[in-house]
Amino acid sequence: MKKQPEKEKKMKKSTSILIIYTGGTIGMINDPETGRLKPFNFEQILIQVPSLKSFGFKLDTISFEKPIDSSDIHPDIWIKLAEMIKEKEDLYDGFVILHGTDTMSFSASALSFMLENLYKPVIFTGSQLPIETIRTDGKENLITAIEIAAAQKDGKPIVPEVCIYFENKLYRGNRTRKYNAEYFDAFESPNYPPLAEAGIHIVYNYDAIHYPKQSKIIKIHTKLDTNIAILKIFPGINQNVVSAIVNAENLKAIVLESFGAGNAPSTNWFNDLLKNAIDRGILILNITQCNAGSVEMNRYETSQKLDEIGVIGGNDMTTEAAITKLMFLLGQDLKNSEIKKYLQTSIAGEISLLIDT
Ligand code: ASP
Repeated sequence: MKKQPEKEKKMKKSTSILIIYTGGTIGMINDPETGRLKPFNFEQILIQVPSLKSFGFKLDTISFEKPIDSSDIHPDIWIKLAEMIKEKEDLYDGFVILHGTDTMSFSASALSFMLENLYKPVIFTGSQLPIETIRTDGKENLITAIEIAAAQKDGKPIVPEVCIYFENKLYRGNRTRKYNAEYFDAFESPNYPPLAEAGIHIVYNYDAIHYPKQSKIIKIHTKLDTNIAILKIFPGINQNVVSAIVNAENLKAIVLESFGAGNAPSTNWFNDLLKNAIDRGILILNITQCNAGSVEMNRYETSQKLDEIGVIGGNDMTTEAAITKLMFLLGQDLKNSEIKKYLQTSIAGEISLLIDT
């Protein structure tokens, strides 16, 4: 990792950042009557975090009318976020999206595909403890996310990507997964290095950050198709269950979560069900259940069969990236052969170069 100290970054006096609060723990308060966490009016964030005033630049906040727990996130909300960013594209230097941690990796992945030609930072963050609590992780996450969204070098944003900032690390959003429900470092990016690490300085990993060739205007894609299933296999998986999934009405694609380097049971009924689905035009994308590493179709006999029947290798994509990439691709007017090609190509840095093509 090529380390560069924070002092290389320059912030214009006129820097402006938009904070969009969608919901999640960061903005919740304890309701004294019920004892449960509920969202508070995030527009009062300056009262909760007065130090934000010291940034000295324009900081605007938009709060969803009805902030939600991110378990209720739906593609319609991704569309709303993409439209908001597009509408405010010229008004702000960067965007910070406050979001519950449970589905943050899905949302960041989806936005990475929906915002074509992105040249400004879109930084998701949240917290494990509400910002009003003494031990909150929310203040540091919010303050540093804003600083990263505003960071510029030679007049250009340092991180013009959709990212997740959490517990001192900045990740490419579509490489992350929530892996910890207890500790403050809730996210990991098993197959791609952090884009920055925040200690006393924020140290950017310039070699890992994607820079667009030129700053074109953002083109948003707001058609998403959710006719997708995940088939997570396990030893002893029942034929009826697999059959129910592959024969689901209107199904267009399946994310097959396979073992290890992309392996699945070699029993005939399993391969026949999958082949039958592929013959009916259903796309099957093979990704690994492992936390890190890639699918390598053909390395074992048990994946060779999948390859032969037309299962597509998803290399090192996370489930979150695979699902949202399929929603995005199925929403475009593309032939299956084109979708297949894009699934094996990097659209927004979500997949490493293919070992097997
Ligand atoms: N359930 C919450 C959510 O995802 C958890 C969190 O914010 O961390 O909205």
